Amino acid sequence: MKENIIIIGGGSGGLALALFLEKAGIKSEIYEQASAFSEAGASYAVHPNGFHVINELDLGEQLRQQLNENSHPLENYKFKDKQGELLFDIRSLVPDSSFFSEGLIYVARHHLIDVLYQAALRKGIPIHFSKRLKNLEQDDKSVTAYFEDGTAAIGSLLIGADGTHSRTRAITFPYEFLRYSGKWAVFGMAEVGTLGEAEVFMDQDYLASYFEEDFNITISKHHPTAKKRFSWVFIQSQERKVPKKHFDEKPVEVFKQQLADKFSDFKEPIDTLILNSSTFLPQQVFNVGTLPKFSFGRVALIGDALQTTDPYSGMGATLSLEDGLYLAKMLRDHTDYEDAFYYYEFDRKDNVRRIHQETKEMEQEIEAGSVEKMKDYFLNSFFLNIPKVYWDEAK
Ligand SMILES: Cc1cc2nc3c(=O)[nH]c(=O)nc-3n(C[C@H](O)[C@H](O)[C@H](O)COP(=O)(O)OP(=O)(O)OC[C@H]3O[C@@H](n4cnc5c(N)ncnc54)[C@H](O)[C@@H]3O)c2cc1C
Repeated sequence: MKENIIIIGGGSGGLALALFLEKAGIKSEIYEQASAFSEAGASYAVHPNGFHVINELDLGEQLRQQLNENSHPLENYKFKDKQGELLFDIRSLVPDSSFFSEGLIYVARHHLIDVLYQAALRKGIPIHFSKRLKNLEQDDKSVTAYFEDGTAAIGSLLIGADGTHSRTRAITFPYEFLRYSGKWAVFGMAEVGTLGEAEVFMDQDYLASYFEEDFNITISKHHPTAKKRFSWVFIQSQERKVPKKHFDEKPVEVFKQQLADKFSDFKEPIDTLILNSSTFLPQQVFNVGTLPKFSFGRVALIGDALQTTDPYSGMGATLSLEDGLYLAKMLRDHTDYEDAFYYYEFDRKDNVRRIHQETKEMEQEIEAGSVEKMKDYFLNSFFLNIPKVYWDEAK
C-alpha cells in the first residue's frame, strides 16, 4: 500500500518528490514547519543533473523564465589568486564536458522553491504549513506523524525531506549524530547596482574561486529576477566549533566587517561585495556521515536529511532533486514499498558515497594548497560526469 504518503519538509527534495509521486498517480501530502515559503536563504548551485530533474518535471522553461530567460548559464569555472591572476580554469581542462553546456546554474534558493511550489499548487498537492514534526510511530500497517502543534497525520509511508537537522532522521536513527564538520560557511547575495566600481570585475559569466590557506570564497553572478544579483559562498576551515555567542549571536555588521577584512589585500574588491551584501547567512557546517540505511520500516530519507551534503560539493540541491525523482520512480515501479526502498538505496548509494568521498578528497587537496593537485583533482572528477537519473526508464 503506497497511498497517502507523508512528506516531512517542503524544500527542493520534498517538493520534487511530491511532484514525481503525482506523476506516478500516488497521493502525498507535504508537512512543512515554516508558516509560509519565504525568501529565506541565499543561493546555491544546481548542477546539470539537477537541472535535468527540473526538465523531467517539465519545469525547465519556468525555471529559465524565473532566471530572467537566460538562466545565467555559467560558461566557465576559474580559480584565481589574490592578484586576480588566473591559476587554472575547468573549461580548458575539460573542454568537452557537458558541465557548462547543459546548464550549471546558480539560483536563489527561494526561486527554485517557488517554481516547484507553484507546480505543486497547480497539481493540487496539499501542503500544510506550520507543521513541525515532533515524533513518529510506525506499525505493520501505517505510520503516524505527530506535530508540535498537537495535531497528527496518518499515512502508509513517511519520507523525511527535512534537511540537515532532520527530526525524521533523529527519531529513526537515534544513534546517528550530527557532528560539526570542521568548517563554517557564509552564504551571501548582493544586488547589482549597489556595489559601485566593484561591479566591474564581477561582470562575468563564470564562477570564480579564490583559495587561501584556511579559507576560500566562490563568487557567481545570477539572474534570479529582473534584478541581477551576485551570489557567493565563503568557507572557513576551523577545527573547533565557534561558540554560539561568537557566531549566531554576533551582530551582522561586525561579522561582515571581519569577513571583509580577510580580503583587504586582494586586488579584486571582494571586501566591497561582502560589506554590501543584502543577504548574509552564516552557518556552522554539520554532517552525519554515512547512514547505515536509507530507510527503516515505513520511513525513508531523502536530500540533506539523508546525506547532509558538504558545501564544498555544491551538490545539496541537485542530490535532493535526484532523490525525489528516484524514490518516486521506485514507488511507481514496485508494488511493494520494501522493494521500492531497497532499490532506491541500492541504486543510489554508490553515487552518493562517491560524491562524499570526492568531496573529502577535494577538501584535502584544498587544505594542502597545491594548485597542481587541485587541477588533477578536477581533471578526473566524478562531479563532471555523474550519470543522470531518468523518469521514464523503468527497471
Ligand atoms: C531556510 C534555508 C536556507 C538555506 N539556504 C541555503 C543557501 O543559502 N545556500 C545553500 O547552499 N544551501 C542552503 N540551504 C540548504 C539547501 O537548501 C539544501 O542543501 C538543499 O537544497 C537540499 O534540500 P533538502 O530539500 O534536502 O533540504 P532543505 O532545503 O534544508 O529543506 C528542508 C525543509 O524541511 C523543513 N523542516 C525541517 N525540519 C522540519 C520539521 N521538524 N518538520 C517539518 N518540516 C521541517 C525546512 O523548513 C525546509 O523547508 C538552506 C536550507 C534552508 C532550510
